[in-house]
Amino acid sequence: MSGKDRVLLIEDQADDCRLMLLVLRDRLPGHTVETASDAVSFAEWVARGGFTVAVVDQELAWADAGQVLAALRRHHPECRLLMVAAPGTLVHGLPAELQAMAEVLPRTSAGLLALPERICCSLPVEREDPSPPPQEPASMGGGAPGPPPNQAAQPGRASTQGWTGDELEELAYALSHDLLGTVHLVGQYARLLKEGYQGRLDADASRYLEHLLSGSRRLTEMVEAVLGYLRSDKQDDDRAVVDFSAVAEEAVQHLGALIEEAGARVHWGPLPTLAANRYQMVQLFQNLIGNAIKYRREEPPRIEVSALEHANRWKFAIKDNGTGIDTDNQRRIFRLFHRLGAPNQSPGSGIGLAMCKRIVERHGGRIWVESRLGNGSTFFFTISKDG
Ligand code: ADP
Repeated sequence: MSGKDRVLLIEDQADDCRLMLLVLRDRLPGHTVETASDAVSFAEWVARGGFTVAVVDQELAWADAGQVLAALRRHHPECRLLMVAAPGTLVHGLPAELQAMAEVLPRTSAGLLALPERICCSLPVEREDPSPPPQEPASMGGGAPGPPPNQAAQPGRASTQGWTGDELEELAYALSHDLLGTVHLVGQYARLLKEGYQGRLDADASRYLEHLLSGSRRLTEMVEAVLGYLRSDKQDDDRAVVDFSAVAEEAVQHLGALIEEAGARVHWGPLPTLAANRYQMVQLFQNLIGNAIKYRREEPPRIEVSALEHANRWKFAIKDNGTGIDTDNQRRIFRLFHRLGAPNQSPGSGIGLAMCKRIVERHGGRIWVESRLGNGSTFFFTISKDG
C-alpha cells in the first residue's frame, strides 16, 4: 500500500465516527484513517494535509458542510471528497454546489458499509480485491451451553475476521436499527394499500398483499428480537435481592394468553431468594416456560419449576412433557438463530435460548438441557450466589 492512502474523517457524532472507523479499519487495513471532530482539529489537518480522501458529515455542529468542502477543495485540490448525509436530506435534495464538490452517500448502515468501496474507487493506487463483506456474526453469543466448557464469544474477544465481539454487536445493532425502520415503512405502505384499495383489488393482488403484510410483521418481530438480544447486554445491570417465586409468578402472568390457549399448567415448589437482575430473571423464566408450552405434544403441557441449593450456586430446573429434543441438537439450540423443524412450523426467531444463555452467564451460571425426543425436556441453569 502506498503511504498516500490516508483517509480523513470529518465527523462530530461519536457513534457514527466509531462505526465508520470500525468499517474502514476492517475493510481497508492498508489505509490510515484519521479523524477531525471539531473546528480546531479540522484546521490542523487542513494545514498539515497528507490525506487523499476526506469524508465529511453533512450535518456538522461546528461548521457548514459546504464551507468545509470548499476549504478542502481550496487547500487540497487533489483530495477526493465524499460526504455522508441523512437519508431525509437526500430525499429533499442537496444544494447543487455540495453535490458538485463531493460524492454523496446516505448516512445509513448500507451507506457506511459502501464507504470502503467508494474510497477505494477514489484512490489513484492499485489495490487488491476488497475483502469480503462481514458475515453473520456466527460466534455472537453462540457456543456450547451447559456443563461442557463454554466456547461462547466473549465481548471484546477477536473473531475469525479480526472483528471483536463488541464491534460485531455494535454493527449488528446499527444494522438492526436501520432494518427496523425500513421494515416499518414497508408494513405501513402495505397497510395503506390494503385500506385505501379495499374492494378494488382482485383476489391475487389481495393475496399478495396479505403475504407482504405477514412477511413484514414477521420480519419486524425478528429484528425486534435481535435488538432485544443486543440490548440485553446494555441493560441496567443492577442486582437486587430477588424472590424467584415472584419471578415465576410474573413470567406466568406475562404468558397468560398462551397458557390459557394451550391448557397448560405450571407448578413450582419452594424457590430461593437471591441477588440477581430481576428484569432478566423474568425474561429467562418467560422464555423457558414459553418454550415448554410452545413445543408441546398433543396432551396439555405440564411444567414443573424447581431449584436445588449447592455450595456456591442454585441449580434451577424447568421440566416439561413436550416434544423433546434429539441429542444432536441439545447444544446447538443455544446458538443464535438456531431453530429446529420447518421455519413455518412454529412462530419464533431462534433468539430466545441464546438470550437465556447470555443472561445466565452474566449471573455466573450455565444453562443446558437434558431431553429425549418425544419424551419432554428439562432445562437446567445455575445462578451464582455471589450475584
Ligand atoms: P425459538 O423458540 O424462537 O425458535 P429458541 O432459541 O427459544 O428460539 O429455541 C430454539 C429451538 O430450540 C426452538 O426452535 C425449538 O426447536 C427448540 N426448543 C426450545 N425449547 C424447547 C422445549 N422446551 N422443547 C422442545 N424444543 C425446544
